[in-house]
Amino acid sequence: MRAMVLEQAGHPLRLTELPQPIPRPGQLLLTVEACGVCRTDLHLCDGELPDPLLPVVPGHEIVARVAALGPDVRGWRLGQRVGVPWLGWTCGQCRFCTSGRENLCDRARFTGYQLNGGYAEYTLADARYCLALPEAPAAEHLAPLLCAGLIGYRALRLAGDPQRLGVYGFGAAAHLITQLARAQGREVFAFTRPGDGASQAFARSLGAHWAGGTDEAPAQPLDAALIFAPAGPLVPIALRHLDKGGCVVCAGIHMSDIPGFPYAWLWGERSIRSVANLTRADGLAFFEAIRQVPLGAEVTVFALEQANEALEQLRRGALQGAAVLRMAPVSQEA
Ligand SMILES: [Zn+2]
Ligand SMILES: [Zn+2]
Repeated sequence: MRAMVLEQAGHPLRLTELPQPIPRPGQLLLTVEACGVCRTDLHLCDGELPDPLLPVVPGHEIVARVAALGPDVRGWRLGQRVGVPWLGWTCGQCRFCTSGRENLCDRARFTGYQLNGGYAEYTLADARYCLALPEAPAAEHLAPLLCAGLIGYRALRLAGDPQRLGVYGFGAAAHLITQLARAQGREVFAFTRPGDGASQAFARSLGAHWAGGTDEAPAQPLDAALIFAPAGPLVPIALRHLDKGGCVVCAGIHMSDIPGFPYAWLWGERSIRSVANLTRADGLAFFEAIRQVPLGAEVTVFALEQANEALEQLRRGALQGAAVLRMAPVSQEA
């Protein structure tokens, strides 16, 4: 099978011919239809995440079909459409796993990081962590939901019940969560890079109540802010825009340093928290929530071998919405 492989951080992915994997007990062999390109993949490739499996096939927004079931796997059928998210395996025994917080498992393994992911024609996944997906929409429109949508959903849930919601960094996650938040009756305030009129117009087209640069202030204080951009200086900026009792939620896996700020900005029971990973329950709840509110993912589609180009465009902020790799149909002889 063809795969794009990260051999060493700081180097481009390499198109590589790998043997088709064989499912072990508990695993599904999956034919990848599409795989989203997430900012986390960029952090992985840039060496900003500790202890990756190397070489590794990145990609954790996988839409696939079951090609074979490993021994003992039940509940899935050949050809069924499956989503593989970031959370790929947990121990099931640590104090986090046994208290409904498997996203914090001490020994968790993540797709496309410590487990080979979806920048490939085939992948393996632990069946217990896969999500059943609907037959529609097209794979490239489903793929961004598996991380940008899901992590965005968890971030929104942990933000409390905000009426006025700020989103900082209007990329893949923000454009999906804006639609969901609007459907829930919230007002969305979208903050983009200063002067990025295209992203601001995009945010307004998705129902944002207000859109402006991160150098601008909203007319009213916000109840919560979600930060999707990996820029630490946004944290005190968002904090300053919060009303009392509000929460800043940092939704990315990596962020530059957060500068110091006066305690008065935090006073009034404001809080800052991160969102780490997801649980399987988040996955089920998210796909249930969007059955009533179908999210329209704006995507730019790339071929598998264009993964480096997709990552580069993501790095430059040149994409509107999400980047997705669409696999060429695989011949059936395999
Ligand atoms: Zn655990
Ligand atoms: Zn991701």
